[in-house]
This record gives sequence, structure tokens and C-alpha cells, in this order.
Amino acid sequence: MAPLNCFCTTKHEVTATRKRTDSLTPDQRRRAMQSNRGRTKPERRVASALWRSGFRFLSSEGYRTLSGRRFLGSPDLILVRQRCVIFVDGCFWHGCQKCHDFRKDLSPSWQEKIRANVLRDRRNRARLRSSGWTVLVVREHNLTSEARFAREIRRVIERIARNSPVSRSRYPGLNS
Ligand SMILES: [Zn+2]
Repeated sequence: MAPLNCFCTTKHEVTATRKRTDSLTPDQRRRAMQSNRGRTKPERRVASALWRSGFRFLSSEGYRTLSGRRFLGSPDLILVRQRCVIFVDGCFWHGCQKCHDFRKDLSPSWQEKIRANVLRDRRNRARLRSSGWTVLVVREHNLTSEARFAREIRRVIERIARNSPVSRSRYPGLNS
């Protein structure tokens, strides 16, 4: 499987965090890489597809390891160079009403929990956008077949590439 974390220490990737990067011990680095084990399957598939298309990114855990700070909203992928974050949202936890009838299926306390998640997502993502980040949300239900998955990845790649037009030719996914 393709590696999911980029620990590139060149200036453009992690300028602000370079010092800390250099101070990572091999053991810390290894543990940062292993934090990817916590990813759910849809997140891993999206990460692998983007990696194969030439994009390099951090997970929120990787970002935390490198910078010592939490990234707002814990996106699944952080593309530092393109100033873009990607959330791969499971339909249940993120309150997708297309896929779930929460009022019918859940107790009031669970409905409240899901509602709180939705509000938290909305708040965090609005804050990220107002700080100049491009926020992309991939819904689990858009990854349920190979064709849907491919369409969704293409949409994501095209959107990311808009933030880095000079690098466009680097991404094979755009050439087809
Ligand atoms: Zn859904």
C-alpha cells in the first residue's frame, strides 16, 4: 500500500514546523506513520488514490506529530502546499440525511449526539474556510461503487489542482 503520510521537510511543505521535524527521533517518526492504522477504510482508499496521483499530504495525526499542534476539525488529509483539507465523512456519524432517517431510527439522545456532530463540523469548516483553506468533503455514500469512487476522486483532484495550477502537469489523474 502507498504510504499515507508525507514527511517531506522541504520548505514548501512544512516551513513553520521544520525545527520540530528535524527533532523527531526515528522511533517518533515510526509511530507517526503507524498512526495511520486508525484510519477507516474509505479514508484509506481516498488517501491511496490521491497519493498515487502524485499528491502529498499529512494526516491530522501526522500534522500533530510534526507541529505539536492540533489541526482544527481533524481533517483526514491536509495538503499543506495547496492549502486544502479533505474530510472523508462517514454517513452515520456526520448526520447524512440522504442515507439515514435519524428521527425514526435513533433515540432522542442519539439524535442529539449526531446533531452536535453536524453543528461542530459546520462550525469548524466555516472557520477553516475563513482562514483561507479550501475544504473538500467526501461523503461515504459517494464511494460505494468503483465508478462513483473514480468520479469523486476526479472531482477532488480537479478542485485541489485549482489551488496549484503550476503543478498541474505533475498529476497524472488530470491527464486522462
Ligand atoms: Zn450518505
